[in-house]
Amino acid sequence: MSEDFYEGIEALPIFTGEEDPVLRKKSKAIKRINNSTRELLDQMAKTMYAAGGVGLAAPQIGINKRIIVLDVGEGLIELINPEVTMQEGEETALEGCLSLPDLIGEVTRGREVEVKGYDRQGRQIWVRGEGLLSRALQHEIDHLDGILFIDKAKKVMEIPPESKLRVVFMGTPEFAEVSLKALVENRFGVMAVVTNPDRPKGRGKVLTPSPVKELANSYEIPVFQPKRARDPEFIEQIRAMEPDVIVVVAYGKILPKEILDIPRYGCINVHGSLLPEYRGAAPIHRAIMDGKEVTGITTMFMAEGMDTGDMILKKEIPVNSSDTGGSLHDKLAKVGAELLVDTLRLFLEDREVPRVVQDDSLATYAPKLTPEDEVINWHKDSESIVNQIRALDPWPGATATLRGKAIKLYAGEVVEGIGTPGEIIDVLQKVGIIVATGSKAVLLKEIKPANGKRMPMSAFLNGHDLKIGERL
Ligand code: ZN
Repeated sequence: MSEDFYEGIEALPIFTGEEDPVLRKKSKAIKRINNSTRELLDQMAKTMYAAGGVGLAAPQIGINKRIIVLDVGEGLIELINPEVTMQEGEETALEGCLSLPDLIGEVTRGREVEVKGYDRQGRQIWVRGEGLLSRALQHEIDHLDGILFIDKAKKVMEIPPESKLRVVFMGTPEFAEVSLKALVENRFGVMAVVTNPDRPKGRGKVLTPSPVKELANSYEIPVFQPKRARDPEFIEQIRAMEPDVIVVVAYGKILPKEILDIPRYGCINVHGSLLPEYRGAAPIHRAIMDGKEVTGITTMFMAEGMDTGDMILKKEIPVNSSDTGGSLHDKLAKVGAELLVDTLRLFLEDREVPRVVQDDSLATYAPKLTPEDEVINWHKDSESIVNQIRALDPWPGATATLRGKAIKLYAGEVVEGIGTPGEIIDVLQKVGIIVATGSKAVLLKEIKPANGKRMPMSAFLNGHDLKIGERL
């Protein structure tokens, strides 16, 4: 039955709570089927469809009459004065009720049932059903006798409010995986996951799923991997899911306005900086490269511009001098997941959700890393070089040239020393090498030689006789 059929008919409020007397009374049989009965049937169907239920009994809208309506996906069934005439077998399954919206329970009912009743014209009809239809018929007829499913349930559980939020999650790398995990563990209703297509990886160029896809598969959440986010078919698929909110964490694609406009609460993004600082793709690396002592996470409503949306929640994270791109990434991913959960809970609590407009005049940018960002310029001051090395540790690694070959350097420290920038001014066999810079010098304690593995400099020095005065 289409919704249009009930246009002009109002959905009625549903009575809730196991203590409500109207839900606990035995309803009276209908003596005469007339226009007001038919009007009530229309109102009941409209109410059931509007609430997304599969069945409704008249007492649930406050009327103690023996009328039920059902639709388990096979069309509308209307029954006046229904009576079970046959019941066979047993089946236990989870059951809920529009009058007990926070509960579900395991109820054993007849597997197959036959019910006799009257239709809206007053003709006697029989309905026979099994599975969900059988269950729904018995559940609704129970309502007419003041019986709720919790009276018969073996086990009653509370539905967490989080699971009622319809969430579509979009993300790709490990940073996003942590957020998806938090949503599932906090029982948010993640209906679908959208992630980048599988990519060839490693020497064998094996097609490899994203970390987010692997996690979604382990939770058996449906995964979408569109090549383009503008694909009209993909946009329709998202629209059809009717999400309350779309969560976007490092998805890796720009979303078109058509998608931003779908969820009623909007598209929420988790960004790895204190906006409007470090808008863009590489906020974590750039914060360390710049020697920042504090960075953080911002959640925001996505807008069409890059990271320009109104901010919701923010959390500061100190950057320690020992932090690397890797360690800060992991900290921010964890805090990002927590802040995302806090943000989504604001929507559940019906509280005013903050919307702080970004001051564009304070915006700074964190563009994606380029190969040039990796090359160490020894003419810079030692502090900048050390920050660059730790920002790019473990990935992609700061590079230099040794004896004509590209190497990567890690674990740098500012030390005293004078020399031509790039010159090895000391070799400490058990510790590392000291290289002069534009100011002072840098002690380098780890290296990844071309085609080699990352190793302590002391191990490298065992096989390589580096000399004072050599240039990097
Ligand atoms: Zn019910």
